[in-house]
Amino acid sequence: MQYIFTTPVKYLPGVGEVRAQALAKLGITTVGQLAYHFPRGYQFRGNVKPLAGASVGETASFMLTVATDPTLATLKRGMNLVKLRAFDESGSCEITFFNQPYMKDSLKKGLEYRFYGKLTNERGKLTLSSPIVEPVSEDKPLPALVAVYPLTAGISQKVMSKLVSTALRQLIENALNSPDALPEIIPDSVRQENNLCALGWALQNIHFPPDFEALAIAKRRLIFEELFSFALGAAGSRKKETRTAPAMPDGDITPLTSKLPFELTGAQKRAIDAIRADLSSDRPMRRLVSGDVGSGKTAVAAAAAYLAAKNSFQCAIMAPTEILASQHFSDLAPLFAKLGIECRLLLGSTKAKERKELLKGLSDGSIGVVIGTHALISEDVSFRSLGLVICDEQHRFGVGQRDALAAKGSGSERTVHQLTMSATPIPRTLALFLYGDLDMSALDELPPGRQRVRTFVVDESYRERLNGFIKRQADEGHQTYVVCPAVEEVESGEVSQEDIRLFDCGIDELVPKKPPKAAESWVGVLRDSLPGLRFGCVHGKLKSSEKDAVMSAFAAGELDVLVSTTVIEVGVNVPNATLMIVENAERFGLSQLHQLRGRVGRGSAASCCVLVSDCPPGSRAAKRLDVMRTTYDGFKIAEFDLGERGPGDFIPKGDDEIRQHGALRFRLANLCEDMELLESAVSAAKRILSEKERINS
Ligand code: ADP
Ligand code: MG
Repeated sequence: MQYIFTTPVKYLPGVGEVRAQALAKLGITTVGQLAYHFPRGYQFRGNVKPLAGASVGETASFMLTVATDPTLATLKRGMNLVKLRAFDESGSCEITFFNQPYMKDSLKKGLEYRFYGKLTNERGKLTLSSPIVEPVSEDKPLPALVAVYPLTAGISQKVMSKLVSTALRQLIENALNSPDALPEIIPDSVRQENNLCALGWALQNIHFPPDFEALAIAKRRLIFEELFSFALGAAGSRKKETRTAPAMPDGDITPLTSKLPFELTGAQKRAIDAIRADLSSDRPMRRLVSGDVGSGKTAVAAAAAYLAAKNSFQCAIMAPTEILASQHFSDLAPLFAKLGIECRLLLGSTKAKERKELLKGLSDGSIGVVIGTHALISEDVSFRSLGLVICDEQHRFGVGQRDALAAKGSGSERTVHQLTMSATPIPRTLALFLYGDLDMSALDELPPGRQRVRTFVVDESYRERLNGFIKRQADEGHQTYVVCPAVEEVESGEVSQEDIRLFDCGIDELVPKKPPKAAESWVGVLRDSLPGLRFGCVHGKLKSSEKDAVMSAFAAGELDVLVSTTVIEVGVNVPNATLMIVENAERFGLSQLHQLRGRVGRGSAASCCVLVSDCPPGSRAAKRLDVMRTTYDGFKIAEFDLGERGPGDFIPKGDDEIRQHGALRFRLANLCEDMELLESAVSAAKRILSEKERINS
């Protein structure tokens, strides 16, 4: 039989119906998928020791000759034990196999084997219990590295290894005759440029590496392949923009900057320069400005809006909540007033009369800049000359909403410039990947004079002191945020989505078994412990009007403590808040914690962030949290997060185009460790796509 990549796995020698069903549980249905069933790790059996040279408790390989015929003894309850003695030049030991009666006949007195296992001392006797055994043969050296596979019931490591080996042999042999045996998706030119080995060699060596070096070469190629094909798909699925946007040649922003109460930071200047260059051309701008909380994105947005207005185009700025939109409005309207630009606010709650007048101003062009919520995309909103759309905190918007707003200035030939502001610093390489079609400006520099929010990690034993701390803030006229991971109590034992996510990421060890604190009940507990303080509670299950009412009360200083879920994550500004407490901190991504921390320290008073977690000292969770204590750079934190939790946290909600692409879970690649490969893969994918386009047109 001629095996190709897509041949059903059941036709492979050694598989059959039963094993085919077991393999299907691992997502393996074809011979090719079997060849792509990568090891989850490797056992290093190359560490060969003489018995006398190993210490008790050490795991190693031992080249031993069987000294006695194995005996099989039956123990209680149908259990059994095979026992024998073996020796090398340095000494001898006992070898036992528990419930593996077949070992009695597979080991022969006088022959040499490699035993891999842990040396123990059983009642004074040096013993290897249930080691892995391989016969030593003259013509085939034993491998130093042995793949360990993800398994399923009915398939052992040994069987899996055998099946993979059979699949590979068949495919590699047949690849000489048929391109369908091992379809190569990386074009030759890209392979040569990036110094990548051939596919067959890579597969052979990732499964059966003769040494670490071969393994590294194989892995590098397969990681590249993974990233390359993803990048190809991600970039290819985005529609090519063929329309033009209005060119805005007047790029002088000094009238604006001279009215700002501060000097722009270098990073702000660079971002504005890039925007100015984008806007001056009729190629539609698609730029993402990503920067830490407090890095001054608003001023960048203001400069962009100003450029549009002075070139006689309208600008719409969309924020995800009424509070944020109102905040932008109160920041920007006075500035634009001084520059003679009409700036207005449009919310869902805007009164009918005002709304009518506002809509008129937008359609006749007398309003230069409009700031609002998604009320801006209502059907009856139309613009005379919309030229620029700015979306703040884009994580909260679906791409659809952004596009709906842009559509108000677009036609079949023309579209608008778009600027997106993200408060989650995105590692540059990930941005390349997620937003291959976006240009990016990073505000990686905070305005001078910012004070750091001192950060502490504590456990439950600090509860009383923590409550005292909250009380002290209130006594001093300051306010506290308390963030909980959940809205409502979950029954213990019930697994939440969040738990599943943590589990996926391999950080399950650290999730304490106790259910997470829930905002709704935790506010009650705090009320009881802190009588006399004024509490409010917000979470995602409230109506947005209810949410806004509580948030406004907090912003107005009418509440001392705001207990919430992460709904407050997004840009609220309450400079009087000086304490941020995060409960079950181990459940949050670091970038998320960083965002939360950014909610305090916005005023002149010293501020603190306290991360409460019961994760054991020294655990991975504790180490993650420690990053928060020592690092204040959002981009660094984001990179750390990316390596630990994967890219899920950075993908805008509702960006289905990206989510559909295999949920961004890579089998081999680690977006954090493999940044260099990622960059080469993305640029190769881009080049291949544009070459294709050239050929097609
Ligand atoms: P974010 O990036 O979180 O949206 P903002 O634009 O709200 O940050 O800016 C945070 C604060 O920093 C605001 O009070 C703003 O006036 C101030 N700010 C912005 N840029 C500068 C600067 N270059 N120098 C000093 N203060 C600045
Ligand atoms: Mg902001």
